[in-house]
Amino acid sequence: MANTKPRIVVLGAGLGGSIAAFELHEALGSRADITVVNKGDHYSFVPSNPWVAVGWRKRDAIEVDLKPVFKRKDIAFYPEGARRIDPANNIVHLNGGNDLPYDYLVIATGPDLAFDEVPGLGPRGFTQSVCQVDHAEHAGTAFDALAANPQPVVVGAVQGASCFGPAYEFAMIMDTELRKRRVRDRIPMTFVTPEPYIGHLGLDGVGDTKGLLESEMRNRHIKWITNAKVQRFEADKVVAEELNEDGSVKAVHEVPSVYTMMLPAFRGVAAVRNIEGLTNPRGFILADKHQQNPTYANIFSVGVCVAIPPIGKTPVPVGVPKTGFMIESMVTATARNIERLVNGQKPDAQGTWNAVCLADFGDGGIAFVAQPQIPPRNVNWSSSGKWVHAAKIGFEKYFLHKVRQGKSEPFYERLALQALGIDKLKAITLESAD
Ligand SMILES: Cc1cc2nc3c(=O)[nH]c(=O)nc-3n(C[C@H](O)[C@H](O)[C@H](O)COP(=O)(O)OP(=O)(O)OC[C@H]3O[C@@H](n4cnc5c(N)ncnc54)[C@H](O)[C@@H]3O)c2cc1C
Repeated sequence: MANTKPRIVVLGAGLGGSIAAFELHEALGSRADITVVNKGDHYSFVPSNPWVAVGWRKRDAIEVDLKPVFKRKDIAFYPEGARRIDPANNIVHLNGGNDLPYDYLVIATGPDLAFDEVPGLGPRGFTQSVCQVDHAEHAGTAFDALAANPQPVVVGAVQGASCFGPAYEFAMIMDTELRKRRVRDRIPMTFVTPEPYIGHLGLDGVGDTKGLLESEMRNRHIKWITNAKVQRFEADKVVAEELNEDGSVKAVHEVPSVYTMMLPAFRGVAAVRNIEGLTNPRGFILADKHQQNPTYANIFSVGVCVAIPPIGKTPVPVGVPKTGFMIESMVTATARNIERLVNGQKPDAQGTWNAVCLADFGDGGIAFVAQPQIPPRNVNWSSSGKWVHAAKIGFEKYFLHKVRQGKSEPFYERLALQALGIDKLKAITLESAD
């Protein structure tokens, strides 16, 4: 008998994909066949990677085995990953040779890490990474070696990067842990970033992130170079150009560094890159205000894989960060819009894409809310204090609990966010409702 239920495939089971599967399941229940394809069978809480890299977390504390979670929900799971998608024929080609046809596809494949774009960048070159948990474990081993044999350090992000919060976090966390180990006094630290100023964060600052982060760096004796375009990384130094406003070279710095952690630029993963109408030139998925692809109306996207233009022109390119709450808002909009399509209605939900972020420094931190993301904003708030460290631990425990339970948003989370005036969905307008 022909299967008449809509087949929904979610590609990627990271922060966006896992909760997309849960929300779709909550919305549609047994009215749809939901399948998740991921590279690997564990969920990993990426925001905790900096803690893994200084030994504050073990890998197994931030991972969840997804097999029993999806089994309980009757969600089919393919941990072999996708080799390629074929949107014209509605097929996902899996690694290993199998094909998965779909009626609706949610792409949540996160970033491909573009280490190859700067000579010497990445764990196979001369720099550490905290983007994936195995990188963070590797960075942790190198961190112990650094503490045993103090040497200069560079932390930051390269040209084209979009995720700056973790770079600041890691610099401050390293400082905190090196002070605990009583070796900080022998380790010069420099922060190297393409941002035009400290605290820009790819968002042209939020509240007083410039003042807060500059002050934090001064207090921690971390020097910085902004408008930096790295030429190359070597075993014992970082060679970076510092650009003027007009793009001309102001200075070339050779910064001694034996332990270097730099965030790379992101691009779309190979399985989805270079598909006409689906992706932009960097392989990010094109999505309209309903998270729907303009060419392939049955494809939605959530998370870091979504194409978002930069906020404005900067001497060195910087991208816009896609943070957890923003991703959750994309997920909620997507689940509602697919449910409406299944019901024969038009998509109407729009994620708010509000940027809400907690950047932990180990002994404090900063928090910011940008609503909307692009200035001028209705809410442009940042603050700092010891409470941020505690809040970040709460975020970790809470999110991991959510994934272990296979739940997207227990009611108390909804209540708490609404009490703060932070919504995931924009009010539905008459123009978009059918
Ligand atoms: C180090 C770091 C720290 C961060 N900290 C914070 C924070 O504190 N707060 C915050 O709000 N945001 C933070 N972010 C930003 C963002 O929230 C995270 O990057 C988040 O994990 C992004 O979610 P995602 O679902 O888009 O991608 P990911 O969580 O990376 O998930 C992508 C998934 O797709 C899978 N995949 C990839 N290719 C394929 C394929 N071909 N087939 C099948 N599956 C595939 C991967 O295996 C992965 O499971 C941080 C980012 C980084 C890098």
